[in-house]
Amino acid sequence: MIQISQFGEITQFKMGRESRGEAWQPPGQVFYWTAAYLVDGLLIDTGCPHTAEEFVRALEGRDIKLAVNTHYHEDHVGANYLLQQKLGLRILASRKAIPLINGVPKQHTYQEVTWGIPVPTKVGLLPHKIETEHFRFDVVPTPGHCSDHVALVEPAQGWCFSGDLFASREPKAIRPEEDMGETARSMQKLVDLNTDELVLFTGSGNVVRDGREALRACIAYLKDLSLKAKQLAKQGLSASAIRDQIFGRETVLAGITEGDVSAENMVRSALRARI
Ligand SMILES: [Zn+2]
Repeated sequence: MIQISQFGEITQFKMGRESRGEAWQPPGQVFYWTAAYLVDGLLIDTGCPHTAEEFVRALEGRDIKLAVNTHYHEDHVGANYLLQQKLGLRILASRKAIPLINGVPKQHTYQEVTWGIPVPTKVGLLPHKIETEHFRFDVVPTPGHCSDHVALVEPAQGWCFSGDLFASREPKAIRPEEDMGETARSMQKLVDLNTDELVLFTGSGNVVRDGREALRACIAYLKDLSLKAKQLAKQGLSASAIRDQIFGRETVLAGITEGDVSAENMVRSALRARI
């Protein structure tokens, strides 16, 4: 399923596979949305493999000159292969993302069911800046969610295409590869940008008008969480006991993802974090 929305000059494509009645999701509903954005001929992310054909059809007749993957995850590179095959589109990604996008993905069952398995694709190296006909985008390294992550910022417009760096003000569960300290530092980097406003166009399709406020709130939450977790660890509590103290219990997501996206991962990262 694809939903297309317009935000001024930015076209948003929200995509997701409809359930066929998997245990965790009523039939016909999208379990997890992912978003791509098209602005001035620049496509930012390409959705998930399950919606790749539908997405390429939705792009027919639109002027697209270049695509960028914010990071290597399957819900951001899913239509790369078809876009290269059918439109001959040039696609760029960060130095760290290139081998991951061109490699065989290591995925859990929930990832294959929800998003699909991406075809490995060869993509080019992202420069530090990208110019389209009317806009200039800075490529800002923003590791944390994963180490290869970048955001695209148009300073004059106050636009920030933030990929999966920001999901919510108070995230409750993360994957093992996520580094909370890096996430907080990357968010601070965006807060400190010299722009009048900062609107976040996120990888899940939420558009956050006051991006600075949202990022500051998330940084403060992560700092507080890290402090609390470290205090409880000093008292001799295990990671799972700290999780129960702070969050009450494990999230539903942990069950669906067989522990890949969990509150306990959040606690483990909080204990490691230098924030
Ligand atoms: Zn991601």
